[in-house]
Formats: sequence, structure tokens, C-alpha cells
Amino acid sequence: MTPKTKSPIWHPFTQHALQDEMTKIVRGDGAYLYAADGARIIDAISSWWVVTHGHCHPQIVSAIQDQAGRLNQIIFAGYTHDPAEEVATQLLKLTPAGLEHVFFSDSGSTSVEVALKMALGYWHNIGKHRTRIVVMQHSYHGDTIGAMSVGARGVFNVAYGPLLFNVTTIPFPSKGHEQTTLDALASTCRKEGPAAFIVEPLILGAGGMLMYPPWVLREMKQICEAYDVLFIADEVMTGWGRVGTLFACEQASVTPDIACYSKGLTGGALPLAVTLCRADIFDAHYSKDRARTFFHSSSYTANPIACAAAKANLDLWRDQSTLQRVASLATLQEQALEPFRTDSRFTNVRRTGTITALDLKTTDPGYLASIGPKLGAIFKDQALLLRPLGNTIYVMPPYCVTATDLAEIYSAISDAADAV
Ligand code: PLP
Repeated sequence: MTPKTKSPIWHPFTQHALQDEMTKIVRGDGAYLYAADGARIIDAISSWWVVTHGHCHPQIVSAIQDQAGRLNQIIFAGYTHDPAEEVATQLLKLTPAGLEHVFFSDSGSTSVEVALKMALGYWHNIGKHRTRIVVMQHSYHGDTIGAMSVGARGVFNVAYGPLLFNVTTIPFPSKGHEQTTLDALASTCRKEGPAAFIVEPLILGAGGMLMYPPWVLREMKQICEAYDVLFIADEVMTGWGRVGTLFACEQASVTPDIACYSKGLTGGALPLAVTLCRADIFDAHYSKDRARTFFHSSSYTANPIACAAAKANLDLWRDQSTLQRVASLATLQEQALEPFRTDSRFTNVRRTGTITALDLKTTDPGYLASIGPKLGAIFKDQALLLRPLGNTIYVMPPYCVTATDLAEIYSAISDAADAV
């Protein structure tokens, strides 16, 4: 088969045999991307959910420039540096009370691997044999082996099945069936004595922007507490204002035992992730016995430039106007979504905080829905970065997007629904 592109690059989540020439982007500014041919594209999905305050936010850019000229990399075992120390201290002030230690890594997936290893390391080091992980149906936690193991099985990972470990899956708490989920969690905890339950709080992202209310999150945490099962909150997507509050767990007044944050941690400028945990999880590894060490690292752990970007991001979050901007975006999103709530072409029209999603009715719903790529192509033609999850169209823009941009986005969604 003749390749459709000349570039040697193998892109992520891309079927190159079906992909037209890649759009080359040369510049980003606020909610916009600029292509090599001069086209201005509205980034309606924050470049895979990472860009929160806008592309090339001046405070973040300047922090990166400043740090790059002073210290750009240092081994993080036996050494530390101010940007990492400041990020860790600030993070603990912003995240739910009770989280006391911060472990750095480089991506959402690695923050999940770290969380799973912390959980199993904890049980191992306190001498209890607990290894089972409980997960929620339709979850996505990343593409490394452990993260795939705790995510939904399907077309994404069928080839790697033999590498994945077994987990117990409880049903997604769809509206009206929340109690089934809670009962399943309680019964699993009682019968299997698992090590941990990992969950995306309030919204399951890649699983189709599936939303559930805070009270369910709260009750799931209570069940885990009752059975002494570690509760891991994967806030990789939901963190940093997306759901209306800084973190999703806040809305349920939940302090997870372990929490993963990434994506918007640097405002979307550089790859960085953290896994936070309660003191007793750290303490279970704290010993004169070197065998109890937490054996995890990557070369760029807590890279100083990425940490400087994160520090600038945290400074932006200390400014009240950032949360106000999130609140106004949530209102704008609700207004823009309103006409679709009674539009018979769509179903399951929903919003949590700044994220909206709606399912286009089709005979073959799901991630591989045939209309997915068609919708994507239409949006691309209209200079919009929207990447439907099958027949689910969602809008997750940077917080600086304007009402005019949103009007353009939703009018394109309506036109695309007609076109397909
Ligand atoms: N966890 C959740 C909830 C995610 O949405 C994602 C990515 O979308 C990940 C983990 C993996 O993050 P990364 O792509 O940075 O590895």
C-alpha cells in the first residue's frame, strides 16, 4: 500500500492508511492555532485536554524561558531544585486536605502506573496480600501496560491482552442505575478484599465523556473506606478547572488516598505529572530497609523547566479571576448547549463544568462509529479542532475562548450533523 504521507513520523492514535496529509501548525495563541498555510483554527479540545489558560500564556512562557537558561535538567534521586519544591508545596495547599506527598512523573499514564505501584507497594510493605484492582466500566487511564489493564478492554488494546493483568470491573453509574454501581463496588470490596479502586471522578473522558454526579463519587469513597480499599482518583483529565472546580473530588468533598494529576498541570505547555498520596502510603515505604524503597523513576522526573511551567500555572490558579473565568465559561457553554437539548438529531446532551458533550444519533454508535471520521473531516475543513469520540461530539476549550468562538463551534456542530 502506498503511504499517504511522505513524513517518516508514526503519529499517535492515527490510522495512516486513512489519514490525509497532516495539518502543520506553526503557532499557538490563546484559543487559536495557526497553520502553515495561515489558517486560524479554534482549538475546541484544548489540544487533547491539556491547554487550560490558552496556548503560549505569557506568564508560563516567561517562566520556561527563565528556567531554561538556569537549570534545565538534574537527576532527581539524591538531588532537588526550587521549582519542584515550590510546585509540591503549592500543590498540597490546593489539593484535598490529607494528601501529603508528591511523586513526579511525565504523563497521565505514568502517574497512573505510579499510583498502582504505590497502592501495591503499600499493601506489600505492611505485610498484607492485597493485589486486586477494581475499575469502572468504560474507564480510560492511559496507554502503558498497567494503565491499559485498569482501563476498558476493546479495540484499543485487544492485541496486547496477554500483557494485561486481570481486574474487577463495576458498572458505570448511568442515570437511574447508580445504586447498581454502589452495590457492585460494596460486594466486590467485601468478597475480594482488593488493594484499590481507581476511578475518573465525575467524568469518564475517553470512554465517551460519560458524566455522573458528585454524590455517587462520595458514596464510592465511603464504601472504599468501610472496606479499607485504597481510593485512587485519576484527575488527569478532570483536574485544573475542567469540571468547574479546581479538582473534581472537591465537589464530592472527597480526599482520595492517591490522586493523579497531569495535562493542565503546566497549563498545557510541557509534559509533567504528579501522583499525590496520604502519609501512611509514604510511611509504608519509609524504612532503613532499602528493599522497602519505592522503586520508580524516569530520566526526566521533575524536570526543572516543566516544574517552572507548573509553578507559573499554580500562580495563575491562586488568582481568583482564573476560577471566575472557568465559571463564566461554564455559563457560556450551557447557553450554547441549550438549543441542542431539544434537538432530535442528538441524544444525551450533557455538561459538567466547562465540558459539554452530545451524542449524534446513529445506527452504529461507539468509538468506531462510521460518522466519527466524517465529522472530524468536516470540522477540519471549517478550521475547528474538534475530535469526536465516535458519535460523541464534545467541546473542551481553553478558558480564554470567547462567546463568538463558541457560537462558531456549535454552529459547525449543527451543520455537521446535517451533513452526515
Ligand atoms: N487518565 C485519564 C483520565 C486520561 O484522560 C488520560 C489521557 O487522556 C490519561 C490518564 C493518560 O494521560 P497521558 O495521555 O498523558 O498519558
